[in-house]
Amino acid sequence: MNVLVINAGSSSVKYKLFLIENEKLLAEGLVDRIGLNGSNLLHKPIDKPEVNIKSDIPNYETALSMVMDALTDVNYGVIKSPYEISAIGHRVVHGGEKISSSVLITEEIENIIKECFDLAPLHNPPNLMGIQACKKLLPHTKQVAVFDTAFHVTIPKEAYLYAIPYRLYADYSIRRYGFHGTSHRYVANIACELLGQPLEKLKMITCHLGNGCSITAIKEGKSIDTSMGFTPLEGLIMGTRSGDIDPAIIFYLVERIGLSIQEVNSMLNRESGLLGLSGISRDMRDILKSAEEGNEMAINAIKCFVYRIKKYIGAYSASMGGLDVLVFTAGIGENSSLIRSLICKGFEYLGLYIDEEKNSNSQRKKAINTDDSKVKVLVIPTDEELMIARDTAEICGLNTT
Ligand code: ADP
Repeated sequence: MNVLVINAGSSSVKYKLFLIENEKLLAEGLVDRIGLNGSNLLHKPIDKPEVNIKSDIPNYETALSMVMDALTDVNYGVIKSPYEISAIGHRVVHGGEKISSSVLITEEIENIIKECFDLAPLHNPPNLMGIQACKKLLPHTKQVAVFDTAFHVTIPKEAYLYAIPYRLYADYSIRRYGFHGTSHRYVANIACELLGQPLEKLKMITCHLGNGCSITAIKEGKSIDTSMGFTPLEGLIMGTRSGDIDPAIIFYLVERIGLSIQEVNSMLNRESGLLGLSGISRDMRDILKSAEEGNEMAINAIKCFVYRIKKYIGAYSASMGGLDVLVFTAGIGENSSLIRSLICKGFEYLGLYIDEEKNSNSQRKKAINTDDSKVKVLVIPTDEELMIARDTAEICGLNTT
């Protein structure tokens, strides 16, 4: 049985098709520039050469219809008919306060996704368009929504409320929601498999360090705090996003420097973070290279990046009353032994010691703590699409095991 995973963005659709029995990836691809000039579909069947199809793709329905054609094509397809897709799982960014787990898509769920348009104006509308296009193309195929925010619905009030007038929460739902929930949940589950212990018994911190970065505290199996907030701008230093700043900086930029609100918004989202601090790149590989060559700005950017993460690890260990497991994932977390090593330094007081040899070997799923470290430190590649496929299979009763 096959599960198709769809991630519909503002002008793109990413997809992956899994054979669910053994979780084998059969094909993946990207429809890019939907509704724009130069739209195209890049289709990558796993056991066949990839194909790039340039075509006019005005909307999501055309995009998904091309995906179905590619998946079933006689030359580069991987299935014979769209009816071999047993279920479709959709990534949806925002489920607000009502959604606490992945769900079968019904009219009620579509309405909830719509209600959250204001909270995620760039993501929820295309997510819903992807769902509606699939419903039109395959009306009898079950569809599931997997929300980025759902894992964090368990965060308690003291961690999700901002200290602004309460009516802003009551009337406008302004609170911490958190994002990257599917990734944090996936790596937490894999960590438990590796350790042979149930999540309920562990105090765990998961660090998702990619272009976007966030960190989550998981206690008794539940997310109890996370660094992204009302939007994905809060928290850690990211590729181009500032993460935490004093909000008064915004007034200063507007009133004293004369920037418009749109300019400040764009600066904090697109010109800040590693890019803003280093003046070199948003890409950690470039910054590490420049730092190695002695570039002071690159060295500072790395120090700030690491310091912010350490601060959160300390804070979350305090929130949970200890720490059993620290997990690193996503591009930087999975690949940079230096960043992991810098982050872990100074946590000996928690009983956390890493083994530099294990840390630097190239294996991607591994424990990097010393044998006598009280805190287990794990590197786990994230796979949000596989998590979505697993949830979809479970909800649709496709699991064969
Ligand atoms: P996204 O959030 O877009 O999915 P990724 O999880 O792919 O991003 O992470 C991208 C980040 O990972 C970039 O900053 C990139 O430089 C970094 N990265 C990838 N490989 C390495 C590496 N070998 N060493 C250091 N950083 C790396």
